[in-house]
Amino acid sequence: MKKNIIIKEEIKQKLNKGPLLIDGAMGTMLQKYGLGQGECSEGWNISHPQIVENIHREYIKAGVDIILTNTFGANRIKLNNFNKGEDTLKINKLAVNLAREAVKKERSKEKRIFIAGSVGPTGKILEPYGELKKDEVYKNYLEQILILEREGIDLVILETFYDLEEIKAALRAVKENTDLMVIASMTFDKNLKTIYGVDSKKAAKVLESEGADGVGANCGTGPDILYEVMKIMKKVSNTYLMVEPNAGIPEIVEGRVIYPISPEIMAMYAEKFVRLGMHLIGGCCGTTPLHIKIISDRIKNKFLKKN
Ligand SMILES: [Zn+2]
Repeated sequence: MKKNIIIKEEIKQKLNKGPLLIDGAMGTMLQKYGLGQGECSEGWNISHPQIVENIHREYIKAGVDIILTNTFGANRIKLNNFNKGEDTLKINKLAVNLAREAVKKERSKEKRIFIAGSVGPTGKILEPYGELKKDEVYKNYLEQILILEREGIDLVILETFYDLEEIKAALRAVKENTDLMVIASMTFDKNLKTIYGVDSKKAAKVLESEGADGVGANCGTGPDILYEVMKIMKKVSNTYLMVEPNAGIPEIVEGRVIYPISPEIMAMYAEKFVRLGMHLIGGCCGTTPLHIKIISDRIKNKFLKKN
């Protein structure tokens, strides 16, 4: 059997025994280390590799099973906004290497840490509303995904998508060209729809029928809204479910960006999500290694089996 099929089976076996913990935010952590507003987070794979690696290591120490590469915006169309399209190969390659280095340094005998390639939206609008053509989007994601695969990721997590057509293009690029496991996640607003008007029921059904190994929701307006979204997805879905809430809607306090949801509150929600039947739990914007550590401590004894 091919390597990626074996890894997919291994992850599925683990998921069938109990939930797996995914890491927290990368972008907002990089901001803590000095990444400027509007600066390209993924560019830090080249300019500040040690910081990216250290953030991965902090999450592994906090108890995660899966870390996400710093490649959320590392598709060529998105990188072009920062005049970094030419660095697509280098940025994605370095990202996987930094994740792998972190796993190697924090390796423990008891537990295998998986590396998920993070893939996010282009930031552009698809036709017919915008100028971006569907085949261009497909090619854009294919390029990124093939680099991530070649560098040795274990699975793909498509996250923070609003447009069903765009995430479908990314999903197809994975499914038609690799054997990688792929989880597809969208971002929902207070009305339980994406800003493109896609409701959570439709998102789960369509993504599952397009071959996603798991579906879910991430980012947005905090864990309470995501709980409602995931209740609906749970009703219509027959596949694995993933949730990565952010730490609430950020506020500016004395010039600093503050995410209002504390690690303790987040851990309380994590427990609710496990009880709801979520298979993969992590954190999005504003979550830190401390959030993940407290979630891990809270749910490990109750729900997580020994790997
Ligand atoms: Zn987020």
